[in-house]
Order: sequence, then C-alpha cells, then structure tokens
Amino acid sequence: MPAIKTFLNRHPDENGKTGFQELPLKAPCPKSSIMVKASFSHVDQWVFDLDHTLYPPHMYLFDQIEVKMTQYVMDQLGVDRSEADRLRSQYWRDYGTTLAGLMREHGVDPDPYLVEVHDVSMAHMEPDPELASHIRSLPGTKIVYTNGSAPYAARVLEARGLDGLFDGIFGVEHAGYRPKPERSAFDTVFEQAGITPRQAAMFEDDQRNLAAPHDMGMRTVHVAPEPHDADHIHHHTDDLTIFLRGLV
Ligand SMILES: [Mg+2]
Repeated sequence: MPAIKTFLNRHPDENGKTGFQELPLKAPCPKSSIMVKASFSHVDQWVFDLDHTLYPPHMYLFDQIEVKMTQYVMDQLGVDRSEADRLRSQYWRDYGTTLAGLMREHGVDPDPYLVEVHDVSMAHMEPDPELASHIRSLPGTKIVYTNGSAPYAARVLEARGLDGLFDGIFGVEHAGYRPKPERSAFDTVFEQAGITPRQAAMFEDDQRNLAAPHDMGMRTVHVAPEPHDADHIHHHTDDLTIFLRGLV
C-alpha cells in the first residue's frame, strides 16, 4: 500500500523525535458519498414529507400552524391554552397528529380544521433553486406526502420554488384522514400514487414516520437538525439540499 507523509508529531515523541511520519494511505471513509449514492442505485421513486423536510424550521411556517392548531382545540373543546397544549401532546403521542386525536376522541370534522390551521402566511418562505435542481434531476417518480392537506402543500411548494417538480401531491385527506405514522395511511397513499416501496425512498423529519416505510422495504432518510439512532433510519441529514447534491 502506498504511504503518505504527514506532519503529525507536533510535540516530541518518547524518543524525542518530531517531524514527518510515514502513514499508510487510508481508504475513504466508509460512509462516503459514493457509498451513500450506491445505496440509492435501485431507487426510482421518491417520497418527500413537506413540513420541515422540504423547507427548514427557521422559515417560520409550521410555528404558525402550531398556534392555529392550539387555538382550534381551545375553541372546539372549550379548554384553556395549557390544557389545549397538553391534549395536543397527548394526541400527537397516541394518534400521530392533533387532528387524528380530535377526530377519534371528539368526532371533529376534518375539512374545516384543515382549512383553518393551514391559513398561514408564506412571507418567510424562500425559494431554493439548488434544491429544485436536485429534485428535478432525480430519476423516476417524485411525490409529496404530508399529514397536512394537499392544497396547503401546493402553496408551500410554490413559495419554495418547488412547484411543477412532483408527479403527485398527497395530503392526509388522501389517506381517509388517517395520519402517518399509521401503516394503513402509507398503504392507501402509495397505492394511489403507484409507489412500489422496494424501489422507493422516503424523506421525513419525524423519525416515527420512517418506521412503516422501512418495514415496507423503502430507503429511509431522516431530515432533522439532530440524528436519531434507530434501526428504521438508514441515513440522516440536517440539510436536504446537501444530501441530494450527493445523489444526483
Ligand atoms: Mg414534517
């Protein structure tokens, strides 16, 4: 194996020697971009979550939705803000989303809820031409699948400069209002979208929503500021644009 010289011994070693040291030339890092790219070589179907996946948290969009969801719970159930926050945490944990809990436990009509909570400003959204370019370059079918509504997703994509790139936009309404992470929700949407899981990859910020895709045979990518160590997560990135740069 060839050797490289590197100046490692800043301080004298036990023999009093400093200077160059012969080191074997190391193989590239096993998690190199080449290996990551190879692990997607079978993929020609790409499924993207929307919120905090196709735009980052600092664009102040989901924060507005959180405020609206809490207000909706307060108005519908006649509870104060702290109780609404407690219920929302419980519903998120037990059912996957606030809406799922409101429907299961209180029979709330989903359509007015979805219109109200997604009536938010896109003023802080910024286009990402590089992200758009990378998504455009991915081979095969590309869809968005969100626990929000499809009309809301379309507005977000337009504000991000990502409109026209996807073959389909699917919201919670396409899954009979059953949310990710329920397996039945994925089954329903993927059947409509023509997704074959073993040829597909899923990008998501909520690690819970990668468990079913993993079990179905998809390649999973956790898009979040911090990694989450779990068997159902194949890859993690804190920047979707940079991750896709390595795939195209
Ligand atoms: Mg999300």
